[in-house]
Amino acid sequence: MQSIAFIGLGNMGGGMAANQVKAGRTVRAFDLSDRALAKASDAGCMACSSAAEAVKGADAVITMLPAGKHVLSVYEHDILPMAAAGTLLVDCSTIDVDSARKAASLAQAAGKGFRTADAPVSGGTAAADGGTLAFMVGCDPTDFADVETALDPMSRVTIHAGDSGAGQAAKICNNMLLGISMIGTCEAFALAERLGLSAERFFEISSQSSGQNWSMTSYCPVEGVGPASPADRNFEGGFATDMMLKDLRLAKEAAMTSGAVTPMGGHAEALYAMLSEQGLGHKDFSSIIELLSKGTVK
Ligand code: NAD
Repeated sequence: MQSIAFIGLGNMGGGMAANQVKAGRTVRAFDLSDRALAKASDAGCMACSSAAEAVKGADAVITMLPAGKHVLSVYEHDILPMAAAGTLLVDCSTIDVDSARKAASLAQAAGKGFRTADAPVSGGTAAADGGTLAFMVGCDPTDFADVETALDPMSRVTIHAGDSGAGQAAKICNNMLLGISMIGTCEAFALAERLGLSAERFFEISSQSSGQNWSMTSYCPVEGVGPASPADRNFEGGFATDMMLKDLRLAKEAAMTSGAVTPMGGHAEALYAMLSEQGLGHKDFSSIIELLSKGTVK
């Protein structure tokens, strides 16, 4: 796999495309933003004048775009008409499951033998820059080896989740659980504080008891407790509240269309929306502890 078209060179896509270049691949890049395109060019990508231009002659097309509507639009207007028959199309954006399946069916309907995968990522911009993202992939099992090869320079681990849409399903289920577990962890620390129990002692006890979970032991929301985390740097960097909110909204939408009952996911979404409305959407999602410990949330 020598030539990759990369569309969407933002906070995530910029670093991901640069890692494709470092792996010795020709990267034909496009972004609507001139700034993003110039940065990708500095990293060794070939700047193209449009998405349609970028996909010409590429072995694989990777997209890293904001939402389902952007992915569908680029597929319909640029990729499907212009990519060569049989090209591997991998969408790494986080989008709704229905749009992911629609992108795959549009590709199939194009009648050019395209192979498609939805491959959203876990890991933020540091993992994108470092080539250590985790990919969860929805694709035909016979295409998985080629998807893995395409993603390899950007990946720490790549897991086949199932057929088309399964990667997005895994992503939103995981992040819904993460949002809920973070709020639960923050609530427990806030209650411990009110009860006069030190955060250090509570961490020591709970991290070895049945309340133990990733939000506590790997990403503790309390400054100076547990391994280094965004709480130690005033919640700057990390995984933005607005990103978590986006994923919780996707989970809610998926629950509504599939008939799943997710009351805790709904509560988590409402709490993160409250934080975002206070102008704190750019802060790490563990900053929800500030809202909870101040007691301003009922
Ligand atoms: P971003 O907004 O920084 O980048 C998106 C880029 O897409 C922008 O540069 C924009 O100009 C470009 N774009 C939009 N429409 C386009 C079009 N039609 N053609 C070409 N380019 C177009 O967003 P990001 O942080 O890089 O996130 C990208 C995706 O990755 C999102 O779906 C997001 O949910 C997901 N994600 C982000 C993170 C994170 O920490 N930032 C982590 C995991 C997953």
